[in-house]
Amino acid sequence: DHVIEFKNVSKIYRTKSGTVPAVQNVSLKINTDEVFGIIGFSGAGKSTLVRMMNGIEIPTSGELSIDGKQNANLSKKQLREQRRKIGMIFQHFNLLWSRTVLGNIMFPLELTGMNKSERIKKAKHLAELVGLGDRINAYPSQLSGGQKQRVGIARALANDPAILISDEATSALDPQTTDEVLDLLAEIKSRLQLTIVIITHEMHVIRRLADRVAVMEEGRVIEEGTVAKVFTHP
Ligand code: ADP
Ligand code: ADP
Repeated sequence: DHVIEFKNVSKIYRTKSGTVPAVQNVSLKINTDEVFGIIGFSGAGKSTLVRMMNGIEIPTSGELSIDGKQNANLSKKQLREQRRKIGMIFQHFNLLWSRTVLGNIMFPLELTGMNKSERIKKAKHLAELVGLGDRINAYPSQLSGGQKQRVGIARALANDPAILISDEATSALDPQTTDEVLDLLAEIKSRLQLTIVIITHEMHVIRRLADRVAVMEEGRVIEEGTVAKVFTHP
């Protein structure tokens, strides 16, 4: 069963100096409950795929469906709801610096109308899940890079997403912290029902966590399959 499907999707940006074919004829099925990696160098089109998945960009042609619903057919309100089903974690964490760990994790819940005591309860639970139960009152500036990303992960899980997208989430971290964060993602996946999509330019990240992988180059998927198959030389 698949949760994300790209059918012949292309995205062409129009700029003053001409058109940029960022994604070209991509067809991909990402299964429910798998870790799917998308690897490629800078400029390969990975972020454009992500922006289409969370509805910030609309494909120029082709079809994209999330959870069986075609993005192109959704109203703005439905797109917002759809976006809530997708949790995002980022390279630079995107935390609110003036808020504590708990305040950051609670933030997405404030947009849903959940009452305060429920929000606090849920945020505390998520802080514990990511191993920050004893740092809920710390500010981001008081945390290490790995801890900041744990806050990012907890915040991404706040709305019980069906899909967690990691956009170069370990690229700013040292190798040991990278592995800790990847192991945490694996643990979360084993506990929650979740599809994880990992965007990265690092082979190591894919090897450590992904079940299947698509390799992107110049907007196209040039290879796709299990990690063992794609990364084993014939
Ligand atoms: P990646 O995430 O793999 O680095 P991107 O999706 O960011 O790749 O970029 C793919 C191509 O599209 C690149 O050539 C990039 O310069 C171009 N591009 C990305 N975003 C825009 C934009 N908003 N407007 C014009 N060109 C863009
Ligand atoms: P990272 O490890 O994510 O690169 P940085 O220290 O480089 O973290 O900061 C990321 C961004 O957050 C920078 O653009 C920085 O200017 C901004 N920033 C730093 N301190 C604050 C703050 N107190 N409030 C809001 N933004 C801040």
